[in-house]
Amino acid sequence: MMLAKILIVEDNALNIKLFCDLLAAHGHKPEAVTDSRNALDAARQFDPDLVITDIQLPHVSGLDLIRMIRSDEQLASVPIMAVTAYSARGDEERIRAAGAQAYVSKPISVVKFAQTVDDLLRAGNEEDPTGESPASWANEGGDAPGDGEPGGEEVSG
Ligand code: MN
Repeated sequence: MMLAKILIVEDNALNIKLFCDLLAAHGHKPEAVTDSRNALDAARQFDPDLVITDIQLPHVSGLDLIRMIRSDEQLASVPIMAVTAYSARGDEERIRAAGAQAYVSKPISVVKFAQTVDDLLRAGNEEDPTGESPASWANEGGDAPGDGEPGGEEVSG
């Protein structure tokens, strides 16, 4: 299991306790910010492997915070998991469009929460550039209409 620094941005004390206990139990190092106005500075200092943010926050909303993190030079590639109490139609799309990789609704399922954290941390550690090659190769064939080389791949003899 990989130990990760995880920044939690959440205004609800009970949720902070729940998330911190859960992450610590999985061997991670959580740090919580209650006031979202301090979240960007806290993130720059803490340099987290993952940010978990509430969406319904006073002052700076979770969506705005996600956008701020995405456009921050230091933090742009940090995975973000959003947690929200409301799942109105279109919410997930808005959250993902803002730049979060994952979305968990409250009340959280402990299993889903932990699984999503693991998935994001694992994805963040798989930045092997060779992983991109097969996909681009796969798209290369068959895209060229009128490419006049029938049977070009055949080997005779
Ligand atoms: Mn909230």
